[in-house]
Formats: sequence, C-alpha cells, structure tokens
Amino acid sequence: MQQGQRVVVDPDLEPEVIPASVLHHVFAHAREADPEECCGLITGDDVQRYRQVVRCRNDMTLHHRRDPVAYPRDGREGFFMNAQDYMQAADAAEARCERVVCVYHSHVGCGAWFSDLDQEFAVQPHFPFPDAAHLVVSVMGGKVVDQGLFQRGAAGDGFVGRSVVHGRW
Ligand SMILES: [Zn+2]
Repeated sequence: MQQGQRVVVDPDLEPEVIPASVLHHVFAHAREADPEECCGLITGDDVQRYRQVVRCRNDMTLHHRRDPVAYPRDGREGFFMNAQDYMQAADAAEARCERVVCVYHSHVGCGAWFSDLDQEFAVQPHFPFPDAAHLVVSVMGGKVVDQGLFQRGAAGDGFVGRSVVHGRW
C-alpha cells in the first residue's frame, strides 16, 4: 500500500456482482443520510454471499462535537460505526448462520474510492471484521452516482478496488 494514497477501482479486475435488492437498500441508506456518510454491514453465507443489509449509526458527528481535537471531521467527511449496532448485527448474523462479508459506507460529494482514512480504519488492530470487503458508494447532488468494492489484494497488505454490477435477483 502506498501510504496516504486513495485506492481507486481497477478497470482491469473482474467486476463484483451484488444483488440489485442489496445495492438498492445500501443506496437508499446513502441518500437518506446525505449530507452525512452512512455506514453499515452486509451479511451472507456461502450460498448467497450478499444477503442482508444492516444499517449502523454513524457516530462521527457525535464524537466530533464531544472532542473536535481527537475527531477533527464530522459525519459529512467520515464515519464511525456505532459499536453496539455492529456487534448486535454480527450476533444476529451468527444466529442466522451468516457472517459479516462486507462493510459499506458512503462518500458525499466525492468519488467511490478507498481513502487513506478508510484504509487506516480497515487495518486497525481492533477492527472487528478484518476479512470483510468494503463497499463505498458516492453520493452527489442527492443521488448515488458510483460504487466500488475494496478488498485486500493477494499480495497481502494493500487493497484493490473493483467495480460493482447489479445482480438480477
Ligand atoms: Zn470513505
């Protein structure tokens, strides 16, 4: 990974297929959260990798108001997934014999890339879903205009981005 650099979608990689119903749920969340970033999880299993969308609260504005030095950005420029929300979601997924396969969040007013902050978040030692992929959707003018899926590359430490296409179901 090149430190401090965003990872963008690589057009040479095969696109990831995600069911349209799952994407529409994520897009709706992103539009509702505008002008703040939304965040949440997608759970699934080996039969259907992307099965269920679980919204989580973005607490970044809350943290920013309490401690603007430690949290210089608010929810318009970052997300801080509510821990209670994601732990409950992970427990509920386990009860359904599913697991967290993807973490999603939106970018408002900028592209669907994996920022340096997103990379820091994904590799932090206490991140609860180290094997999950990251879906980033871009909201511009109240509409979702682009999306990308970011995963650790085969080489190990870095991330690669691939485009996302709507599945039929
Ligand atoms: Zn981001």
